[in-house]
Amino acid sequence: MTAPGKGFFKSRALDSLEDCLRAFASEERLDKHDAFFCAKCAAHGSATKTMRVHRFPRCLALHIKRFKAHPSAPTTKLTDAVSFPLTDLSLSHIASDACVTPEHLLRYDLYAVSNHTGSLSSGHYTAACKLQTADGQAWFRFDDAAVSRISPKSIPAQDVYMLFYVQRAELELAPTSVFV
Ligand SMILES: [Zn+2]
Repeated sequence: MTAPGKGFFKSRALDSLEDCLRAFASEERLDKHDAFFCAKCAAHGSATKTMRVHRFPRCLALHIKRFKAHPSAPTTKLTDAVSFPLTDLSLSHIASDACVTPEHLLRYDLYAVSNHTGSLSSGHYTAACKLQTADGQAWFRFDDAAVSRISPKSIPAQDVYMLFYVQRAELELAPTSVFV
């Protein structure tokens, strides 16, 4: 049998956050170099491994893999664009069969993004965050001392490093007077 998990990672680019999550949750075959050790049999053998979430958090921090190790060359940075939903990220497909989180809480909205530009040896971090203003919720970009109002669609998909989501039912943001 082929290993869908490994095949998925090898054969195609992960263009969207949904693709990344599907790959994360896909079945992986443990064999040869990473064989599973069964304590009962006291022996190594092949097995399949699948990641599932049993209890979902109120705030979900997703970390995009932005570096790649090579056997005989320096680690490189991955700059693939990874698209991501601003609202209604559904995670029901990665819930375990015995998931204790109710179905209606498996939907998330984005509230902040951490971006990285540059290389592994030198780079720059910026952030984009959704805040409550006098005229409703708005997105702001934080770049050192510079803060500016932005459209969340302008967040560069190739720089996205960490994505912060909150359960839809928890989305009411506390008012803040800092940037109004
Ligand atoms: Zn066994």
